[in-house]
Formats: sequence, structure tokens, C-alpha cells
Amino acid sequence: MFAMAKITDDVPLVHDLASVPGVRLRLDEPLARYTSMKIGGPADYFIEVDSGAALAAVLGVVRRHQLPLWLLGNGSNVLISDRGVRGAVIHLAGSFKKVEWREAGATVEVEVGAAYAVTQLVRQAARKGYAGLEWAEGIPGSVGGALVMNAGAYGSEFEKVVERVEAVDPDGHALVLTKAQMTFSYRDSHLPAGTVVTRVWLRLRREEAAQVDAKLRELVGKRKSSQPSGFPNSGSMFRNPPGDFAGRLIQAAGLKGHRVGQAQIAQRHANFIVNLGGAKAADVRQLMEAARSEVRRRFNIDLVPEVKFVGEWPTEHS
Ligand SMILES: Cc1cc2nc3c(=O)[nH]c(=O)nc-3n(C[C@H](O)[C@H](O)[C@H](O)COP(=O)(O)OP(=O)(O)OC[C@H]3O[C@@H](n4cnc5c(N)ncnc54)[C@H](O)[C@@H]3O)c2cc1C
Repeated sequence: MFAMAKITDDVPLVHDLASVPGVRLRLDEPLARYTSMKIGGPADYFIEVDSGAALAAVLGVVRRHQLPLWLLGNGSNVLISDRGVRGAVIHLAGSFKKVEWREAGATVEVEVGAAYAVTQLVRQAARKGYAGLEWAEGIPGSVGGALVMNAGAYGSEFEKVVERVEAVDPDGHALVLTKAQMTFSYRDSHLPAGTVVTRVWLRLRREEAAQVDAKLRELVGKRKSSQPSGFPNSGSMFRNPPGDFAGRLIQAAGLKGHRVGQAQIAQRHANFIVNLGGAKAADVRQLMEAARSEVRRRFNIDLVPEVKFVGEWPTEHS
């Protein structure tokens, strides 16, 4: 019997990737450890990239070898399949975690790398008395992921503070897009597939630190009282349909607490699915299908997933 050749047996490709300076390459890397839901099978090529030069070189290798490419931020808005992701998964690190603050009169320009954690940014801004990001406390994403998703909460969203975005397009060209050149909508930035966001410039306001801190605490309290804690999850699973709330509809459909395997519709907020321990991506997907079809049957509303389904799924899910 012959073992089937795996894509990761491609020696020239492995050599090309591993020899780029500023890159850490892992083969067959389980992705569950990189996602907030603690779910996800292996990536063929998991590539941690520390600098712009390393990113350009890696994207060149990926194109030359015609590898599929996917960008992983903090993994807090994705459901990665149990079979994992074929091809390359890029994860930004190193110099993509830098931040610089520049005061200009009553405003502040923040230049921040795409791998910087949103919560860290929010807390630093609050300590410095810079207002405009308090609503984002508790969003466990990276700046790049928040930009791509146009993350938002409590009536605000990333779009409102963004000034410019630096990115690399699928052909490897570096771009700087002003806000006027971007198209944001509810939980979307409409960047072409394969675009890698590398840096973002935000505009905040100077205020009394105590005032910013008070706002932050108020919103943290709201979040704590309305969202599940203690079990891994991916935040809201569905987008809110116009004029309504996905959580309200799923609750009204009687599905709070409903389980498939170790995945459960949260008791505290029905638009969250929690991993009770060892849940499979397939369980979560099945639970989402159950919620969708029950909400459709009862209210004639088609819920649209907010989480991104990533990787190789069995055919009934694709
Ligand atoms: C407990 C909890 C609470 C949450 N609360 C909120 C909330 O209040 N509001 C909200 O909007 N969301 C919320 N989320 C969802 C999530 O945190 C946000 O969508 C976040 O912005 C995703 O960022 P990420 O880095 O985790 O992206 P990932 O989940 O890693 O990726 C999301 C998408 O962005 C792409 N991406 C990531 N980084 C880059 C990059 N540098 N360049 C190009 N593409 C990239 C990925 O390919 C993927 O398509 C919550 C999640 C959790 C678990």
C-alpha cells in the first residue's frame, strides 16, 4: 500500500517558504489554538510573517506555486472546518504589532499595525484620554480583522474612525486607500478577496481620560451583562436582519440552549454559539442550519451568517 502524497510533501515549496527571512513556517498546523471558538482543523502551510518585506516575499512564493491563500487575524469571527484549510494561511506578527500615536490639536492620529489587538488599542487610548474607540472594548479581534469586518457595537463601527488603510493586493502591489476610496457597510469593507491589510490610520479625539474611562466602563458593563462568558465562542453568528435582531429571532424560535454535540446556542444570548468543550465545526454548522431553518419557517426571515466559514467542508455544507 502506498501512502497518498500530501500537499505538504512539496519539497521546493517548503524550501522556498522556509527560506524567507522573518517567516516561521509550520506544516499541518492545527488552527483551533488560533481561534476564539477553539475549533478548526490543520492548515497545510501556516506562515507567520514578521515584516512587510517578508510578506512580499511570501506572497511571491504563494503566487509562483499557485497556492490558495487565506489570512487569519485573531480568529474571532471565523468558523474553520474540521478538515482544516488547504494551501497557505498567513498570520501577521512582529512589526505588524506596532502602534504610534500623534497628537494634532484636538485630535489624535493613530498609526497601527494590522496584527495589533483591538482591546489593547482601546485600553491604551482610554489611558491617554483619546476618545472614539470605547465601543470596541471586548472585541477580541486584530485591527486588520476589525477593519475587514467593519466591526461595530453600540451604534458605532470601525468605519467612523478610519482615515487610511495600507494593504497588499492579490498581485502583490502595495496600496494605500483613503477612507473615501473604501466602501464600508454593515460588517463589511468590500476589499477584494486576497487583499492583505497591513496597517491602518485612525483618527480619535482628545478628551479627559476620566471621561473616556467612564464611557468604557459603562459599555464593558453592558457587554458583560448581555453576552455569554466562560465558554469559547465567535461572537454573533448571524448578522442582524434590517430592523430586527438575530438573537431575538432565534430566541423567539425557541432555540436558546439547543445543542448539537458540544455546541450550544447560548442561554444568555441566542445569537452566540458556545463550545462546551470539544465541539466540532460540523456541530456548529448544523446548529446554525437549525437556527436558520426554524427562523425561516416561523418568521419568513433568512438569517445571513456573520462568521466566515473557512476551509474544506463536506459537500453538504459547501
Ligand atoms: C466574545 C466576542 C465578542 C465579539 N464582539 C463583537 C462586536 O461587538 N462587534 C463586532 O463587529 N464583532 C464582534 N466579534 C467578532 C470579531 O471579534 C470581529 O469581527 C473582529 O473584528 C474579527 O477580527 P479577527 O482579527 O479576529 O479576524 P478573523 O476572525 O481572524 O478574520 C475575520 C475575517 O477578516 C479577514 N482578515 C483578518 N485579518 C486580516 C488582514 N490583516 N488582512 C486581510 N484580511 C484579514 C479574515 O481573512 C477573515 O475573512 C466578537 C467576537 C467574540 C468572540
